[in-house]
Amino acid sequence: MSEYYIGAHVSASGGVENSPLNAHAIGANAFALFTKNQRRWDAKPLTQESIARFRERCAELGFGPEQILPHDSYLINLGHPEVEALEKSRAAFLDEMQRCEQLGLKYLNFHPGSHLKQLDEDVCLQRVAESINLALDQTRGVVAVIEATAGQGTNLGHRFEHLAAIIDGVEDKSRVGVCLDTCHIFAAGYDLRTQEACEATFAEFEQVVGFQYLNAMHLNDSKGKLGSRIDRHQCLGAGEIGWEVFRYIMRDQRFTGIPLVLETIDETLWAEEIQQLRRFAADPAA
Ligand SMILES: [Zn+2]
Ligand SMILES: [Zn+2]
Repeated sequence: MSEYYIGAHVSASGGVENSPLNAHAIGANAFALFTKNQRRWDAKPLTQESIARFRERCAELGFGPEQILPHDSYLINLGHPEVEALEKSRAAFLDEMQRCEQLGLKYLNFHPGSHLKQLDEDVCLQRVAESINLALDQTRGVVAVIEATAGQGTNLGHRFEHLAAIIDGVEDKSRVGVCLDTCHIFAAGYDLRTQEACEATFAEFEQVVGFQYLNAMHLNDSKGKLGSRIDRHQCLGAGEIGWEVFRYIMRDQRFTGIPLVLETIDETLWAEEIQQLRRFAADPAA
């Protein structure tokens, strides 16, 4: 039986090397982080010392590359309709990929992009795929992990078909995958409130995309209702989704061996949320 890797998107303030400590402190065996300030374009390169410490601490605390899910900057739009802005996004994405390479990481999680009402959906999705191809050509080893979105504004990635279309346009299929965020897909219209709804939603995912591409999950409840297309996270069990989907995930082996990352809104609850998830996996009556 493979293992569940459960954690949260922890702070890397003071340096990326602090993130494994922050994850360990809440009892996590997975974590997500930003390798630079997620709200700025520019970033200082990682120092050799920072890289070495990050690697040491991950090794000491038992975090392998398949347990760590770096997330890129929110400013990047790999499907941007305008040439100059697209170039800026592609350069920033390449820099993010290279930072992951330096840290010995396996994944880079990102939101696919927005058409800004200036491009047809399929043209924008192909542009995202081309952006991924360019980054993969210039790096080694790191897998581009496309996140399913809530479909807020003009964001693409809120249909499983969008994820499949991007994957289809990526040349090296061994280096592309997806991250499903329970809040996002629920807000996008995929029901997760009962065991039956979960069966149906994940069967549709299997059919349209395929579990072989599932590299990570974000575990969040949702403040927005089913199909609201609003991206607002809530603590587990406290939102519109409820606990069932988290029971479901913790009892289905298809979700083992990949980072399962909390981005819930009260970080003081993360340690408890992780424990609760582990109880679901261990005890059928929980
Ligand atoms: Zn997410
Ligand atoms: Zn979100």
